[in-house]
Amino acid sequence: MRLEAEETGHRGRALRGAARAGMFAWPQEAAAVVEEGGRLTDLWRVGPWVARTIEGYLADPPDVPDPPPARRGFLTRAEVVATLAGHDDWRTAVRADLQMHTTHSDGKATLREMAEASAALGYEYVGITDHSKGLPIARGMDEERLARQAAEIAALNRELEAAGLGPRVLHSIEMNLSPEGEGDMEPEALAQLDLVLGAFHSQLRLAEDQTDRYLAGVRNPQVDVLAHPRCRMYDRRVGLTADWGRVFEAAAEVDTAVEIDANTHRQDLDVELLRVARDAGVRISIGTDAHSVRELGFMEFGLAGAIRAGIPRERVLNFQPVQDVLAWTASRRRASSTST
Ligand SMILES: [Zn+2]
Repeated sequence: MRLEAEETGHRGRALRGAARAGMFAWPQEAAAVVEEGGRLTDLWRVGPWVARTIEGYLADPPDVPDPPPARRGFLTRAEVVATLAGHDDWRTAVRADLQMHTTHSDGKATLREMAEASAALGYEYVGITDHSKGLPIARGMDEERLARQAAEIAALNRELEAAGLGPRVLHSIEMNLSPEGEGDMEPEALAQLDLVLGAFHSQLRLAEDQTDRYLAGVRNPQVDVLAHPRCRMYDRRVGLTADWGRVFEAAAEVDTAVEIDANTHRQDLDVELLRVARDAGVRISIGTDAHSVRELGFMEFGLAGAIRAGIPRERVLNFQPVQDVLAWTASRRRASSTST
């Protein structure tokens, strides 16, 4: 449900809270709930006054202006649920979540808690992608802490395997990229990892075309996956612009993957850009970017985006056996060490 709040004060806050919940939490549109004889107050963040307001909107639809750019191109949860309803095979076939954070950087849950929650979701493997040192605000890790995390992951994997439990935990990272597309970690440290995500976290509000930045990012041989490419945030930041056709073609040429960051407030890439990515034939990686156990549930937004854009599942890392993903990153390491 897309609500536009004109009220101020606590009523305005109540409406805006319901509007946010209506976007990303309600499994059904308010109109559909009413049509099926359900109660609006059963929806998250809908009290009696908000319910009456929505009923008023439904009876006499107000003129709703186009949302501002920072709120465009986001799927609602109701759209996601409807999209997945016809694609049970996507849900059952997905083997991995390839972006999540733990208490090693800015996540709320420990490595073990995230791994166990991922096991409960039925994943065969997951990528642990804590931040690198260039992002101190997110407690980014230096090489020494990365090595300690490697030891912890290896021990956890041995324990899970001995107990006959999944998932296999891949040691990955969300490496900070400078606006020039350069990473911030020693090559020897990166060479130990199963998978390297690269992401921009600075100068994200520029209006000028950023194609060169992205070409440098996807051609950086250290980066396997370009994470949350556009860097947009719902209602806060529209994200960067580029000639995306060129960027995705360049990524496809060097076989770097681009990510669907399935966080409800990112949805980056969104459906429109995913269609461009589909036409370029670039590899796709899906990550929830979960910073808590609950946020692992964002996967449905990533799957729905891919389905709506017509991305073939063969192009999505998350549907491949873990051996294939590891063989892909290993071949990229070999190619970059022989070409330099
Ligand atoms: Zn990030």
